[in-house]
Amino acid sequence: MKKISILIPCYNEEASLPLLYNELVKLMDAHCDYEWEVLMVNDGSKDKTLEVIKALKNKDNRICYVDLSRNFGKEKAMLAGFDYTTGDCLVIMDADLQHPPHVVNEMIAKWEEGYDDVYAKRKSRGKEPWLRKQFSLLFYKILQKTTKIEILPNVGDFRLLDRKCINSLKQLRETERYTKGMFCWIGYRKTSVEFEQQGRQAGQSSWNFLSLLSLAVEGIVSFTTFPLRIATLVGIFTSILAFVYMVYVVIKAILFGDPVSGFPTLISVILFLGGIQLLALGIIGEYIGRIFHETKGRPVYLVREYNGKY
Ligand code: UDP
Ligand code: MG
Repeated sequence: MKKISILIPCYNEEASLPLLYNELVKLMDAHCDYEWEVLMVNDGSKDKTLEVIKALKNKDNRICYVDLSRNFGKEKAMLAGFDYTTGDCLVIMDADLQHPPHVVNEMIAKWEEGYDDVYAKRKSRGKEPWLRKQFSLLFYKILQKTTKIEILPNVGDFRLLDRKCINSLKQLRETERYTKGMFCWIGYRKTSVEFEQQGRQAGQSSWNFLSLLSLAVEGIVSFTTFPLRIATLVGIFTSILAFVYMVYVVIKAILFGDPVSGFPTLISVILFLGGIQLLALGIIGEYIGRIFHETKGRPVYLVREYNGKY
């Protein structure tokens, strides 16, 4: 019998887990011809999420859990899931029921057709603040323009991955993770199913504007070196301008003498160049920071407890 795992990263989800469980039971009972495993990764929740998970496990031994030693963030929690899953395929799903479990039926059908990576594409983005939506669209535009790998917009982490994909993803062990890009990077046979994103059922989103912004910077810096090239291009451009201006100043001084005025020009050129240099340094710094984090070679996450025994 083939085994399907469901991976659910959970951070402060005590309210949504029982609701999610009810939905999952319906899904699993509808597919008795598969063996099931629900792997919940407790990402250092501050509420009673772990207790809720343990209670569910007592009720239903298809539930397994990994308890991380602290909050590592969803991206790393997902890697923990990849490491501990035992299924022939893995469905990644949010705990807050924004990803309707009935879509998994279609995913399984596509998987049986031979696809390795069945991703769910949002028809609409669900209830979301307007500003957040605009920033998110802008981010995808920038990312797509700067990388050679196709990054799909309106596709989140909700997807079914074959064992091949999981084994590949397990090899990508960088600490600064942008998993959405990794799904595209690994390749394999992909196909999509569409779904209507739901609003969050309970609890609240743990992302705020700053954490989304840093995920966006992560996405760009961990996927392309394009910003470094921009720094080079801006440098070349200003050098050319400066050279032209220098020729102009010299010729003017030779032909008309030098009245030594020009403090405004001088100060604006100095400030302008200073600004550009700091910007370029900042961009370089983003990359050096990442090199620093990676060279430490620390484990991506730490596990307090794994309970997967039947
Ligand atoms: N999550 C996590 N660790 C975190 C933050 C979030 O494991 O540090 C989980 C969370 O429990 C949920 C999923 O990631 O299952 C998506 O989080 P959320 O719903 O807050 O994000 P949104 O849907 O608003 O993008
Ligand atoms: Mg959510």
